[in-house]
Amino acid sequence: MGAAKTGNGHKIATIGSHSALQILYGAKQEGFSTILICENGREQPYKSYKVADELILVSKFNEMLKLQEKLLSEKAIIIPHATFFDAFGLEEVEKLKVPYFGNKKILKWEADRLLQREWLKKAGLILPKIYKKPEDIDGPVIIKFYGARGGKGFFLARSAEEFYKKIKEREARSYIIQEYIVGAPIYIHYFYSPLTDELEVMSFDRRYESNVDSIGRIAAKDQLDLGLETSYNITGNMPLVVRESLLPEIFRMGEAAVKASRKLDGDKIGLYGPFSLETVITPDLKFFVFEISARIVAGTNLYINGSPYTDLKYGEPMSTGRRIAREIKAAIEQNKLAAILN
Ligand code: ATP
Repeated sequence: MGAAKTGNGHKIATIGSHSALQILYGAKQEGFSTILICENGREQPYKSYKVADELILVSKFNEMLKLQEKLLSEKAIIIPHATFFDAFGLEEVEKLKVPYFGNKKILKWEADRLLQREWLKKAGLILPKIYKKPEDIDGPVIIKFYGARGGKGFFLARSAEEFYKKIKEREARSYIIQEYIVGAPIYIHYFYSPLTDELEVMSFDRRYESNVDSIGRIAAKDQLDLGLETSYNITGNMPLVVRESLLPEIFRMGEAAVKASRKLDGDKIGLYGPFSLETVITPDLKFFVFEISARIVAGTNLYINGSPYTDLKYGEPMSTGRRIAREIKAAIEQNKLAAILN
């Protein structure tokens, strides 16, 4: 991977966290030059793995806003990820002048849990029930706080009494009460190409969360004696392949989410690029979708060299980061770049 041979002078840029290694490495595999905007003190991995042709150090990510003219002059295309939205917030992202891969009109539908629910319902997906008030709780529920990063502070309850007891111990914040689905969590990584009108299933992961994924190592009696509270703070991701007979439904769900998204924005363009359905599958093999992420998810970092599924499709290493770069490259070649940038 040397200097840029493709991309018509365009460079791929992102900010240094989340899936930046994968995004920039994938961009270089496709022949693009890369730019990383990174907070001081967080640059070591990017230097070590040499994914950035240009490393711009800032004291806070949102200083990128002051670098827009420079990025524009370098024909940079921004690839967003979760840290990007944390750093800038929805309004700033919507106002960005630097070309951005993805449909910004979908963002508000993803950011608001209620709008997101409307979207997933329109797609005909099965969702966990939402309880309007604690008194309605009639089974296991998970209480989720708005804006909680990595599921911090989420807790479980089985009754209104338990809910009130536990919520008292936490700082006041808005929350939703959602049916807790007992099953196997599966995070599905998709890519939808507006150029080929094809939905691709890229890979799957399961999460490694602290402390919930270590509680099983402690005997039930000790768990009770220690008075443990579960938390769901994400620390990493683990690879997964699914039972093959589940794949038709997985394709169907992804296609339904894309199709329904076209009814959400005025332009009928809808969702494209990478996205993920976060699901729990029950013992009777029903997928409950509890969230959609309309962007690259960190679980795809497992597959920098491709997944079993991208192997089948591409026969060469194809990460989600590389897939994004390939889409941009194809759009440049077909003179359709404007259709995939915002
Ligand atoms: P994200 O970073 O994806 O926005 P988050 O902080 O909003 O995450 P979730 O992913 O919604 O948190 O949930 C955290 C944890 O709770 C995950 O382990 C997930 O599998 C589990 N979980 C969430 N909703 C449910 C549900 N309805 N039933 C069972 N488990 C759930």
